[in-house]
Amino acid sequence: MNKQQLVDEIKRLKEEKNAVILAHYYQRAGVQDVADYMGDSLKLSRIAAETDADMIVFCGVHFMAETAKILSPEKTVLLPVAEAGCPMADMVTERKLTAYKEKHPDTLVVCYVNTTAQVKALSDVCVTSSNAEKVIRHYEGEKLLYVPDKNLGTYLKHKYDLDMEVWPGFCCIHNDVTKEEVEFAKSTYPNAEFIVHPECRMEIVEMADFVGSTKGLLEYVSNSDCQEFIIGTEKGIIHQMELANKDKKFHLLSENLACYDMKLTNLEDVYEALKNEQHVIEVEETIREQALKSLNRMFELTDQ
Ligand code: SF4
Repeated sequence: MNKQQLVDEIKRLKEEKNAVILAHYYQRAGVQDVADYMGDSLKLSRIAAETDADMIVFCGVHFMAETAKILSPEKTVLLPVAEAGCPMADMVTERKLTAYKEKHPDTLVVCYVNTTAQVKALSDVCVTSSNAEKVIRHYEGEKLLYVPDKNLGTYLKHKYDLDMEVWPGFCCIHNDVTKEEVEFAKSTYPNAEFIVHPECRMEIVEMADFVGSTKGLLEYVSNSDCQEFIIGTEKGIIHQMELANKDKKFHLLSENLACYDMKLTNLEDVYEALKNEQHVIEVEETIREQALKSLNRMFELTDQ
């Protein structure tokens, strides 16, 4: 099948099966273009919970589809590529977190949404990069552990002077950004604003004109008077920035800002997932109920 035939077949199967396609901003442009909804991981999971569709095709990585399943247990949630995972989410395991909690029974666990259902189930509250600051401020004065992203955790800890331990995990894409890359981009595009995701290291965040989640960065470029930006996050986001801001210029900080797992999914995978109803995400019910508590606590604190 050529690309247009694939797109037509995806549309036909979607209607036949009452399915919706959700795609994260870091997906390939072709996948973004067939999606019914685009967003960050949490926005997509909320959409998954609210839609009348029976089937959700989640174009992203495993923890995202799993979060959708936690919020919508009655729906069929499909992840087009079964191996699409998040290396950072795998840096905190149920076993290690259980051992930590046994040694530190008075510490509250704050987990990033980039975690497995088992880790969410062991946590007191979940956060995303968009709402972490809002959530964490409710816990000022408490003993905290933040898992798994050391960069976002360190950023929050310093900004709010928190009594918070930070797990040593990281996103291998954002963590690899170097000062030299930023200095080079700034000298190449002197009129551009440098905007960055807080999964980058502190020394990089400190060089930025703006720090924000994927959603925050998208909103920032649309609202800013500046016409040119250096983008310090995963390259897939530039497709949506360009669609929404046709008169502005976007320069990717480094070609290394490409998430291997996010780029595993292509149009053929979306088609195969719909046709064969593969790969179905399941979460064991007791884990799901516990994980849902940490997500619901986040929603209570953020009114989302
Ligand atoms: S960009 Fe980083 S945090 Fe996001 S899925 Fe890829 S490895 Fe995980």
